[in-house]
Amino acid sequence: MGKIIAIANQKGGVGKTTTTVNLSAALGAKGKKALLVDVDPQGNATSGLGVDRRAVKSSVYDMLIGQASATDILIHTEFENLDLLPSNMDLAAAELELVDFEHREARLKAALMPLRGQYDFVLIDCPPSLGLITTNALCTSDSLLVPIQCEYYALEGLSQLMNSVRRVKRQYNDRLEVEGVLLTMYDGRLNLTQQVVEEVKRFFPRKVFRTVIPRGVRLSEAPSFGKPILYFDRSCKGSIAYNDLAAEVIGANR
Ligand code: ATP
Ligand code: MG
Repeated sequence: MGKIIAIANQKGGVGKTTTTVNLSAALGAKGKKALLVDVDPQGNATSGLGVDRRAVKSSVYDMLIGQASATDILIHTEFENLDLLPSNMDLAAAELELVDFEHREARLKAALMPLRGQYDFVLIDCPPSLGLITTNALCTSDSLLVPIQCEYYALEGLSQLMNSVRRVKRQYNDRLEVEGVLLTMYDGRLNLTQQVVEEVKRFFPRKVFRTVIPRGVRLSEAPSFGKPILYFDRSCKGSIAYNDLAAEVIGANR
């Protein structure tokens, strides 16, 4: 059975999508079969893997409301060992429409069940909210990976996120644990960054990944070419960092 990891933080722009895209590609390149599930209506992970959102006819939306199966919407990407369940703007409606379903929090879990055995890792790119879609992702996952941007308000909202995690654990999914906390957009030249790192380590003792993701322009350029960093600039710092992170995740899940 593959390990399912939700990449979640309700705060916007902290590096969730960048991490989901680049970690899944790095896992794939290391010979692990990886599936990226894009559950954000923004569809940034979908386009980040070179798939045109406007050309996506059936998406995770259709899967969640039961109009398509996971196999129906599955896309084999051009990258090694990496498949995608794509998203587009349709998914924005799901947050409301799902409310009427029975077991509305478990729709994603049920839909992914048939595919699960085919992958070593399933990574879910969550939207920046704690709504029903993120709840679905947490109900489906074995663990969550929390990207935290090294900036002044880094810890803001983390208590809320952890409250949601506890609620999901208690009500629906007692296996859910924190895979790790990832420091993103790290700039060692700034004193502030060091302070944030210390604070995050105090908030999450023993849960912070050894690997930190440096701020780097190549990482922000790669999505517009529809490529994970590994296939865009193999030797830049960001690429090496996501490769290290993949090794760390594999090591923790042997
Ligand atoms: P949202 O909450 O909107 O889904 P997100 O948490 O998924 O956002 P990203 O889209 O991954 O965040 O990143 C936000 C922006 O920061 C993007 O423009 C991305 O290219 C850029 N970015 C992410 N990580 C880095 C990095 N390490 N160095 C430089 N730029 C980065
Ligand atoms: Mg995102």
